[in-house]
Amino acid sequence: MHSPSSPISEFDLIERFFKTGMASNITNPSLSLGIGDDCALIKPPPGEEIAITSDMLVEGRHFFAGADPELLGFKALAVNLSDLAAMGAKPLGFTLAIALPSVNTKWLESFSNGLFRLANQFSCPLIGGDTTAGPLTISITAIGSIPTDKAIRRSGAKVGDDIWVSGTVGDARLALAALRHEMILSEDELKKVAHRMHQPTPRVELGIQLRGIANAALDVSDGLLGDLKHLLKQSQVDAEILLADLPKSVSLQKQSIAIQNQFAACGGDDYELCFTASSEQRDTIMEIGRALNLPLTKIGCITPMHSHQTQIRIISAAGKVLSDTESATLLKSFDHFSA
Ligand SMILES: [Mg+2]
Repeated sequence: MHSPSSPISEFDLIERFFKTGMASNITNPSLSLGIGDDCALIKPPPGEEIAITSDMLVEGRHFFAGADPELLGFKALAVNLSDLAAMGAKPLGFTLAIALPSVNTKWLESFSNGLFRLANQFSCPLIGGDTTAGPLTISITAIGSIPTDKAIRRSGAKVGDDIWVSGTVGDARLALAALRHEMILSEDELKKVAHRMHQPTPRVELGIQLRGIANAALDVSDGLLGDLKHLLKQSQVDAEILLADLPKSVSLQKQSIAIQNQFAACGGDDYELCFTASSEQRDTIMEIGRALNLPLTKIGCITPMHSHQTQIRIISAAGKVLSDTESATLLKSFDHFSA
């Protein structure tokens, strides 16, 4: 047994915290060889292609120094699985590269608990990685698979498509405001929204169900409208968004209308899926939402491009198109969590 900061070899560290943290029942037929050799070997299911995504979290930049290691472990993997979900990919496994200022076994145990709680839930094994001494940095690469040519890209949105978003948006931003003491929430409410911020649910099953149904999709990491703009740009289309239709939690609905609109439209860290689909798919999409017990809300539509730059026309609750200045004021509120 090591004391919290006693030296531990890299081999011991991987063995103790990362190799044995996985539930023994994680099996993945696509994994020919897992952790412990020079490389992992993956054989994608026949007729499928591999989807790969990486995300790096740096202390002081993406999370506060002293952040709860269990939540950090959970979220570091969740944001990667969310990217797989956005393309309709099914997780196969992930690698972890971690720089640690010191080997603190208590910290590692908690980190590994959070990480594997989510990994086990999605049968997504750790298949390799690296550890080194350095400022706390967590880098995860998630690998998934998807039937060839079925990936849902950002570039597929078509004029006339409905625009949808899953779950509710703005809760993580509400939690951040409360944690920064910019806003006061009841203990119960703070708990609910902080859970959304720290432990987002990657919408993996939704992404898989949307294959062949959604024309374009992405996950909402930096804020709904800001992220939607990336999709519009890739698809070379504009959009019209009905501000009053953005789905908000009961907690967010208790705030002023201005805060509701700002946080729902521009708050980051929600990790919901925003996607577009032909209006003929409405019933199918509602059925998917019911089957997954996940609200799916139509929030607008895709329109032809008006100028050389893609634009979002935001329609107020009163049916009025927001002026450029009004839209800019709303969008300006965007401030993704960064120290
Ligand atoms: Mg993404």
